[in-house]
Amino acid sequence: MTRIIALPGDGIGPEIMASARRLLDQIGGFEIDERLVGGASIDDSGSPLTDEVLEACRDADAVLLAAVGGPKWDTTDPNAPRPEQGLLGLRKGLGLYANLRPVRPSPALLDASPLKRDRIEGTDLLVVRELTGGVYFGDRGRRDDSAYDTTVYSTEEIERIAEVGFRFARERVTSVDKANILETSRLWREVVEGVAKKHPDKQLDHLLVDNAAMQLVSRPASFDVILTENMFGDILSDEAAMLTGSIGMLPSASVGEPGTPGLFEPVHGSAPDIAGSGKANPLAMFGSVAMMLRYGLGRQDEAAAVESAVDRALADGLRTADLGGDANLEDATNAVLSNL
Ligand code: NAD
Repeated sequence: MTRIIALPGDGIGPEIMASARRLLDQIGGFEIDERLVGGASIDDSGSPLTDEVLEACRDADAVLLAAVGGPKWDTTDPNAPRPEQGLLGLRKGLGLYANLRPVRPSPALLDASPLKRDRIEGTDLLVVRELTGGVYFGDRGRRDDSAYDTTVYSTEEIERIAEVGFRFARERVTSVDKANILETSRLWREVVEGVAKKHPDKQLDHLLVDNAAMQLVSRPASFDVILTENMFGDILSDEAAMLTGSIGMLPSASVGEPGTPGLFEPVHGSAPDIAGSGKANPLAMFGSVAMMLRYGLGRQDEAAAVESAVDRALADGLRTADLGGDANLEDATNAVLSNL
């Protein structure tokens, strides 16, 4: 039995998690333990992530999260607990230093992309972003009338994220840096080249980040894995995400050392405006289940089966409200399950 901790969270979270659980039941072989996180956990215990839940996550094979947050817990009091602290606590507590965002537009939705069909067709890429280092975590401050932020990367931090990139690449890693200017980027390039030598079956190329931003919209179908540091990855993964069209479609994963549980979740939030209406699109949640199967549990065939069930449902005309249709959560869930 594969042990999954399910964290429904808030807003539409419990609704889309119920759909994900139906999907997992149909695949079979999972022992699912549902726990509280975010606002729901604050209401229960005063904390957005209890030690007990974190411990249960550490002991699991993978953690599946829906979404956290909502107006009920919005506060300007800096000492009050906030739902998103639950997410940060999970990332830190599970040592999740790699963020993975796939971009694979469903064939039926190619015309929803802001790019022309002939550009986007065939796109199937994965952005691998370093999540716990770089300028977001460096020393920062103010001095007289100036301000500074510092970027620091160690060889070890670069090595471990590069390993993730090569592990998940089918054939090619495109490493993105700014090595013509930044010293951290020059170290990045050196270390990534060293890691590439351990993966002779995979190709490595380098792109400067400004050029990468351009190539991502001019030839997205030519990328396999895009490997990059925290800030460049933050920007490029949002650019890449837009290629698919709707936020209700996008899954993500955060992973750490091999053998430790990863965290799999939709990119979208708890959508309080539609919570309880039964209108949520469960497809990003289903995509997160597929990522959990592929990147967290090594169950490639089942991951592909989930993705193709989603593709077939869309090809048959399934459209939830966010995609301009009138299917509700129940219809969307049934459509995917019947294609699985
Ligand atoms: P949001 O992603 O929740 O919603 C943005 C818009 O997209 C809304 O109109 C919403 O109805 C729609 N939407 C989102 N997911 C959808 C889905 N599956 N199906 C159909 N429509 C969908 O972003 P927001 O409104 O800025 O944030 C709402 C709450 O979620 C806030 O409390 C925020 O802090 C939190 N949040 C959580 C996460 C997370 O849990 N990872 C991420 C982002 C925001």
